[in-house]
Amino acid sequence: MDFRRTDDIEEALASLAELGSDAQVLAGGTDVMIQIQRGELDPGTLVHIERVDSIGEITENGRLTVGALATHLELSRHPALLDRYPSISYSASLVGGWQTQAVGTIGGNVCNASPAADLLPPLLVHGARVLVASQDRGERELPLSDFVVGRRSIAREPDELVTGFSLDPVEEGTADSYRKVGRRGAMEVAIVGVAVRLSVDSGATIKEARVAVCSVGPVPFRATAAEESLIGLTADSDEVAAAGQLLLEQSQPIDDARATARYRTMVLPRVFESVVTDCYLRATGPLR
Ligand SMILES: Cc1cc2nc3c(=O)[nH]c(=O)nc-3n(C[C@H](O)[C@H](O)[C@H](O)COP(=O)(O)OP(=O)(O)OC[C@H]3O[C@@H](n4cnc5c(N)ncnc54)[C@H](O)[C@@H]3O)c2cc1C
Repeated sequence: MDFRRTDDIEEALASLAELGSDAQVLAGGTDVMIQIQRGELDPGTLVHIERVDSIGEITENGRLTVGALATHLELSRHPALLDRYPSISYSASLVGGWQTQAVGTIGGNVCNASPAADLLPPLLVHGARVLVASQDRGERELPLSDFVVGRRSIAREPDELVTGFSLDPVEEGTADSYRKVGRRGAMEVAIVGVAVRLSVDSGATIKEARVAVCSVGPVPFRATAAEESLIGLTADSDEVAAAGQLLLEQSQPIDDARATARYRTMVLPRVFESVVTDCYLRATGPLR
């Protein structure tokens, strides 16, 4: 296996254009190295991009853009994320332990496309758009929901590099929250993960709701029926529980090494209600 290391984006894109599907992008390596060791991956060349600083920054120009190489540790500490996108910084603080967070990146988490990827639900509720670049075709962007197309499957051409994620602005009266259920507090893959973003009007009624989940289907997804049913409610309404049932209907929980489908089915609506309540309190009150 060959190894190419670069700190320059043009050089990285040139390597991917030259090598095509023989190349495997290597960022923090917390997924790739394990998959190589397990024999699940056997690339001809690892293209190591971890030092390409130009795609590691968090910048603001109308929309907040998070560079693909921002690490979980950086996400968990960044003031703009902590202030306006706390579900993203909190989800990053739950990825593995601190060693994983110090090197694991947002780009790697998304491109690995695990059904349990912690960053996907918060990114989905913030309307993340994936920024992609290639040497021959330049730049393009697409919604995250169109990029992660299945379990460990993404809409990326072999010569493309993900450069970042652009997030919807957060208006006054909007709050977000993420909760992960695991068997222990750290180094745990989600049994269920729920992100919610709510916006309320001046009468404290929900005017926009976004809900996304992981670990209850082959791919993290937006729960559109539950979202629609939250519009016009207040969080103490019985109808929030009904929205939880709609979320359940859209889910496909399975038995795996971490939990049974039955357990996930019991936990999901309860976690959903609790995240909605948390979000609502933040959107309407002093918690915000
Ligand atoms: C001990 C341990 C605990 C973990 N716990 C969790 C957890 O709790 N929650 C969770 O969600 N994940 C967890 N993970 C998984 C992992 O840490 C994350 O998915 C991490 O964010 C991957 O980032 P990375 O930079 O290490 O990616 P890499 O391993 O370098 O790459 C992952 C995939 O993305 C591709 N890729 C990376 N960057 C780009 C790019 N810019 N453009 C195109 N393709 C790219 C690679 O080719 C590869 O296919 C854990 C891993 C370990 C080892």
